[in-house]
Amino acid sequence: MIIKPDSVRDGHIGHILTRIEEESFRITGLRYLHLSQQQAEEFYAIHKERPFFDSLVRYMTSGPVVVGRLERENAVEHWRKVIGSTDPTKAPPGTIRALYGISIESNAVHGSDSVENGVIETRFFFEE
Ligand code: ATP
Ligand code: MG
Repeated sequence: MIIKPDSVRDGHIGHILTRIEEESFRITGLRYLHLSQQQAEEFYAIHKERPFFDSLVRYMTSGPVVVGRLERENAVEHWRKVIGSTDPTKAPPGTIRALYGISIESNAVHGSDSVENGVIETRFFFEE
């Protein structure tokens, strides 16, 4: 998971980490870092052809983020449920994006969309 620059700037790191633990995830890796342009482009390479790509990279490099490695039964599926839809206005009440998301771009947190990508993204930020 990533606590995105808007959430870090607005002071939601503590609330989001608490929610992660309340949802029975174990936090087995945690980093505070400022993504470089190259890192952000590589991380979201799958969206390279999308019209929002340049803006997404600007947003993700606009300030520091917190990256976490989370473990749990059904971790990917459960975290996607806890964060809610990409567009915070469509995220169910109580989800992290409904609580802290500002727009479809500045949507508070990231979650891996599959176990396979979770492994790739974890390796992107953490050593074995
Ligand atoms: P993430 O991958 O960050 O967890 P997601 O899987 O819900 O989010 P994706 O479709 O993978 O959504 O989009 C990646 C990110 O790109 C979104 O979280 C958001 O920050 C940005 N984004 C997605 N769609 C749009 C859009 N239509 N306009 C602007 N930004 C967008
Ligand atoms: Mg995604």
